[in-house]
Amino acid sequence: MPLDINGQTKLVGLIGYPVKHSLSPAMHNSAFAALNLNWCYVPLPVLPERLGEAVAGLRALNFVGANVTVPHKGAVMSYLDRVTPEAQAIGAANTIVVREGQGELIGYNTDWRGFLTALSEGGFDPQGERAVVLGAGGAARAVVYALAQAGAQVTVLNRTPTRAQALVQDFASLFPSMSLLSLPFTLQTLEERAAEAHLLVNTTPVGMWPEVDRSLWPEDLAFPNHLSVFDLVYNPRQTKLLRQARRAGVKVIGGLGMLVHQGAAAFELWTGEKAPVETMYEAASKTLRIAS
Ligand code: NAP
Repeated sequence: MPLDINGQTKLVGLIGYPVKHSLSPAMHNSAFAALNLNWCYVPLPVLPERLGEAVAGLRALNFVGANVTVPHKGAVMSYLDRVTPEAQAIGAANTIVVREGQGELIGYNTDWRGFLTALSEGGFDPQGERAVVLGAGGAARAVVYALAQAGAQVTVLNRTPTRAQALVQDFASLFPSMSLLSLPFTLQTLEERAAEAHLLVNTTPVGMWPEVDRSLWPEDLAFPNHLSVFDLVYNPRQTKLLRQARRAGVKVIGGLGMLVHQGAAAFELWTGEKAPVETMYEAASKTLRIAS
């Protein structure tokens, strides 16, 4: 927690709605304390119709920056002075930096980097590998961008096929030499695509608390043994999908690592210091244990 709040405390916030259950305040405040930084990270519940005012308020109130979460990651971009090419391509900014002196608001996306770091920590190198991504929402866009950047061939399976098509079309021009494909999510496409893939990534909320007994992987379908499974859901840490995969002897990676690494990348943008990743991991895990 912050060492001491005084006249020199620097402020960072989390703009979202709701933000009540976020792990980010605990994660960042522990990191500031570990590095003896007189900084404080506060939750900022912001309704969609007040987003513009809230973002302008960051400048007026001399915030150093902010994280942005659901439902504002896309909409926030129109209120910023500029966004990085990655955030522009993904269509979402989850981190804002307020440039000192000028008050310029710059939007970044650190989700894709968080995903790649967690993937590499889990021992998976996506270069040249075939990946299947379940879902085509905001998180899927960061994951597909990351996988394409890292040189993977990606198939997106989504319940609403037009959303997957739109995602793939958006990235096709950005990664003209990469193999990107979209298909409707059905048991048949899942079985066929997974059979020839090396990585399966769940970017849907299926399996998230309180619906912890749900998984998009059918009980009677065997996991190909060359598959690794990454689930972006981190509450619970061991989702049903990960339990199924683990039982089949398949390598699994949970979503908490991505959350911590996107946070670490944001922390480094704001502070210019190397993020204490272990401290952030412990704080996030502890808060998750208390909350569940
Ligand atoms: P989103 O924009 O609402 O997208 C959700 C996607 O999941 C959509 O493609 C949706 O399909 C699909 N979906 C939802 N329910 C489904 C179901 N019952 N069966 C099949 N598909 C279903 O959400 P998001 O922002 O991408 O977030 C998705 C999940 O990722 C959340 O659980 C979030 O907590 C997690 N996440 C984790 C991290 C991390 O750091 N670990 C970061 C970001 C997000 P349709 O298009 O058909 O509606």
